[in-house]
Amino acid sequence: MSEIHTHLSSDDEVIALDRRHVWHPFTQAQTAPDPIEIVSGKGAVLTDAEGREYLDLIASWWVNIHGHAHPHIAAAIAEQAARLEQVIFAGFTHRPAVELASALAERLPEDLDRVFFSDDGSTAVEVALKMATQYWINKGTPRRRFIAFEGGYHGDTAGAMSVGSASGFFDAFQNMMFSIDALPYPETWDGDSEVEEKEAAVLHALDAYLSEHASDTAALIIEPLVQGAGGMRMCRPQFLRQLAARLKQDGVLLIFDEVMTGFGRTGKLFACHSADVTPDIICLSKGLSGGFLPISVTVCRERLYQEFLGETFARALAHGHSFTANPIACAAANASLEVFELDNTFDKLAAIETLHRQRLQAIAGMPGVNHCRVTGTIAAFDLVVEDAGYTSAVGQKLKAYFHDKGLLIRPLGNVVYLIPPYCTSEQQLHYAYDEIEQALRMVTG
Ligand code: PMP
Repeated sequence: MSEIHTHLSSDDEVIALDRRHVWHPFTQAQTAPDPIEIVSGKGAVLTDAEGREYLDLIASWWVNIHGHAHPHIAAAIAEQAARLEQVIFAGFTHRPAVELASALAERLPEDLDRVFFSDDGSTAVEVALKMATQYWINKGTPRRRFIAFEGGYHGDTAGAMSVGSASGFFDAFQNMMFSIDALPYPETWDGDSEVEEKEAAVLHALDAYLSEHASDTAALIIEPLVQGAGGMRMCRPQFLRQLAARLKQDGVLLIFDEVMTGFGRTGKLFACHSADVTPDIICLSKGLSGGFLPISVTVCRERLYQEFLGETFARALAHGHSFTANPIACAAANASLEVFELDNTFDKLAAIETLHRQRLQAIAGMPGVNHCRVTGTIAAFDLVVEDAGYTSAVGQKLKAYFHDKGLLIRPLGNVVYLIPPYCTSEQQLHYAYDEIEQALRMVTG
């Protein structure tokens, strides 16, 4: 039991109680500074308990798309909460879920028509892996192998960790994971003259792998166009198209993890549109609810779903969470899709991309900067350091500098990136880039 009384009279007490009772994600509490208490958000700006403002240029772990506390989504949530907050989704249904499933099917390409709901990005990936596994069992030709990419990250639950095991985040959990096969990732950037060779080498490795293991390979999973947590590493749409064609020859299922790239991030609604590739299964979360509430979907082609039908429960997908298709989260997601029209969001995506490209041109010429790259609203570059990687010291130093300047920018080690909410103004983005240039002068001397 806490010795600190729980009547929170001051913000200092909030921090003291946080320090006493809360365990934060991806944080070494012993060396981390005190967390910042955020009390409100509006548009791209978060406000802390002392009234300081932060421009949220990481969209609160990549979830926020239209801005914080967007009134249209907030109103939809309030209305739904007052009507029906939750109901079991086995044997029951409701309008917000059905509307959302059909709206997604309408927007996704080809026969990506069958929507399975879960809670977050990790569970969406678990569902995709289980769907792929049981699909082959139900067809009577079980396949056990999964292919993923070096640097890929798909979430923190056991299956998602397994396909993300080459990310390097999960060394402590080796015993909990199943083994997968990882291909090198043909990471590219502006002015990369070797991209075609890199892609050809990966496709060659895939061919060699498939010539031996195709009939035992259930699926390949990839974050299309941009690997997020792996360091905003980007690949070309051409590569995805060639990859899809190779897999199709052997019937290996293609899973797109669009948990981060979905809902406008790559310039179109989904990266599968930007790349013009239709996967067999797609995972969506983060921006799905506009970043308001945890919810995810795993959408598969109709022909996959058909393999789960039959007279016995053994053929059904034995998976479901307490909050499957939570009505309030579905209402938020429906409202968020409406905001794309109401706020002319696609114009904003294009404007953000243009500004990224303009400002990165100057940054590319600064000492110590490497591999500038942009895909849609995502901009990134690397800093040349000796300790490159997620724990690179320069990341912590830059984070502190940016906080001081009212910018929520959280480098992934030596990778500096921006994923702004779409409502971020040109003025706000220019301010961020001015400060990034200042910070670079500081760290690179
Ligand atoms: N897939 C990708 C591509 C992600 O970026 C993330 C989260 N950063 C996940 C899956 C896991 O999502 P969640 O944290 O919501 O479980």
